[in-house]
Amino acid sequence: MRIDTLAIHAGKDRNSSRVSPVIAPLQLSTTFRRDAAGDFPDGYMYTRHGNPTRTELESCLASLEGGEAAACFSSGSAAAMAVFQALQPGDHVIVPEDMYMGIQNMIRQVMTRWKLEFSFVDLGSLDEHIRPHTRLIWVETPSNPLMKIADIRRITDLARRKGIVTVCDNTFATPVFQRPLELGVDLVMHSTTKYIGGHSDTLGGAIVCRKKNEFFDRIRQVQTLGGGVLSPFDCYLTLRGVKTLACRMRVHDANALRLAQWLKDHSQVEQVFHPGLPGHPGHDIARSQMSGYGGMLAFLIKGGRTEAMNLINNCRLFVHATSLGGVESLIEHRASQEGPGSHSPENLLRVSVGIEAIEDLIGDLEQAFDPSR
Ligand SMILES: *Cc1c(COP(=O)(O)O)cnc(C)c1O
Repeated sequence: MRIDTLAIHAGKDRNSSRVSPVIAPLQLSTTFRRDAAGDFPDGYMYTRHGNPTRTELESCLASLEGGEAAACFSSGSAAAMAVFQALQPGDHVIVPEDMYMGIQNMIRQVMTRWKLEFSFVDLGSLDEHIRPHTRLIWVETPSNPLMKIADIRRITDLARRKGIVTVCDNTFATPVFQRPLELGVDLVMHSTTKYIGGHSDTLGGAIVCRKKNEFFDRIRQVQTLGGGVLSPFDCYLTLRGVKTLACRMRVHDANALRLAQWLKDHSQVEQVFHPGLPGHPGHDIARSQMSGYGGMLAFLIKGGRTEAMNLINNCRLFVHATSLGGVESLIEHRASQEGPGSHSPENLLRVSVGIEAIEDLIGDLEQAFDPSR
């Protein structure tokens, strides 16, 4: 089945209920009845360990990424932390230097205290950073906010030869446009808060594994015992969102490319970061490992923070807010959002291009650049 069909039908167990709903029910019960023999007839005991609505979402996401299993967490950050907590003290981890800021902060402020060693590197020159005790390589592509592209095949070839686990944060591309497990990655991580949920109303995260091996079992153990599980209601909302993932992504993709091309020719724009533009340094790799570029872009406005903020404040449709992947377009000044330690230039604006009519989006930026017109 194609991804469009899987997004709507995957994971549905229509035979397990006395009624016959087309849509999987929201199962809020935290606890499940034992039978006369003291067993759990449906395999469910307590919602932290497992819940039918979560199972539904987990099997749906596993199908979408082409993996054997998935674990859904209370946020993308909780999913990432479970991966690190599945490692052993003394393990060395390679992460990209332009990684999602929240996970960077988690690594620097929390995980290093647990005696994990991290190297923040440019994934393009990965080889020289691998050590005998390197256990995991984290990939984020396209990256946040500069839309850098990492060569997934090259990284997984290298990692596999050395027995290193690879994880790919696939939040920006989604399985609609990028299939890391097929490119050799062991685990895919998602902030389902973004495109998979798709409507900016549910926080969540997921780890999908290519093989249900011992390392995935450890992640599952951290999830079950640590308790950072996605609530049944958030599973329900995410399942509702995921049904339209494929068709939303096609509009996000088309809109973002049009907007990137329009911005590139604008007299008040210095540079546009979008992997679909032929001038982008990762363009060829992106074309070889993605079937679309997604809805994210960033650009540098001529000037500094003042010019950037003025543009944002002149927008009527684009909302000034963090996050991404919802149907509505957002624009954000990353440097002030990220605060001290941010590498984002003061004149950089990140855009999550929504699925509104592209003419209206371009029209809004046109008037925001030149409000006196
Ligand atoms: C938002 C985001 C995260 C973190 O996810 P939360 O759900 O906010 O915890 C991780 N990676 C990327 C690329 C993100 O955009």
